Amino acid sequence: MNKLQGKVTIITGGASGMGEATAHQFAAHGARAIVIADVQDEKGQKVATSIGSNICTYIHCDVSDEEQVRNLVDSTVKAHGSLDIMFSNAGIGRATLTCDQTVLDMDLSAYDKLMAVNARGMAACVKHAAKAMVEGHVRGSIVCTASIAASVSSENFVDYVMSKHAVLGLVRCASLKLGAYGIRVNCVSPGPIGTPLLKELFGYENEEEDKVVESNQYLKGGGAFRPKNVADAVVFLASEDSEFITGHSLAVDGGYKPSF
Ligand code: NAD
Repeated sequence: MNKLQGKVTIITGGASGMGEATAHQFAAHGARAIVIADVQDEKGQKVATSIGSNICTYIHCDVSDEEQVRNLVDSTVKAHGSLDIMFSNAGIGRATLTCDQTVLDMDLSAYDKLMAVNARGMAACVKHAAKAMVEGHVRGSIVCTASIAASVSSENFVDYVMSKHAVLGLVRCASLKLGAYGIRVNCVSPGPIGTPLLKELFGYENEEEDKVVESNQYLKGGGAFRPKNVADAVVFLASEDSEFITGHSLAVDGGYKPSF
């Protein structure tokens, strides 16, 4: 515990799933400030309240809009004096519930919407967080959420797979430039984890969740594959426990077993 004592942090996509779980873990590890950024205002506000308004605040920010991301970072630095950790996590599984994602049927306007959040949004968050850290002389840590989809292929989810390959490319390139400033850039690459996004991607019902998730991993039992498993990995990459690790993708997938 207390691996993030006194740190100022931003979590995008913090209203739900892995972002929400990470907000709770950042608080448990002593972060001084946690700014949750999301487009689901009511849910985001609720998470902030449950953690405590003395540490955690919510701000509306659509990561696909660079101005909103710039404002998120600027207002955080203004309110708390610096930015130490950016967890760039916001993402979507499908741009529309009905769009097909095989190469033969791809809806390219849906593709544009998905890439605007999953790839462009990540780039905006990394860029503005890095600029604030460089200007503030902060040896910070930036953690992005990529996916197992950053390193495997799939017939059915071409645009999602492309967007996560882009995140891995961003992390690798950014870590080179930012190394000179002592800023580390890494990503977590989860396998299927039980969150609303997974339901959106596969369209299954609640009771099927554990079966679907477990069929994609070799590690059985023990309550793995929950958002907290990813949050624990994010804390590691955000903290000084990983001080010599940069440009890395940390798989959190229970031993990924391809089945889709
Ligand atoms: P989730 O749906 O629970 O959370 C995603 C959050 O991102 C939501 O709160 C949503 O409102 C927010 N968001 C979406 N568009 C946004 C935008 N334009 N601006 C700001 N916020 C926005 O899903 P999750 O599974 O926790 O997803 C978090 C990340 O994990 C995503 O990047 C996702 O691609 C990635 N991921 C998920 C899985 C999985 O199986 N669930 C696996 C690998 C990677």
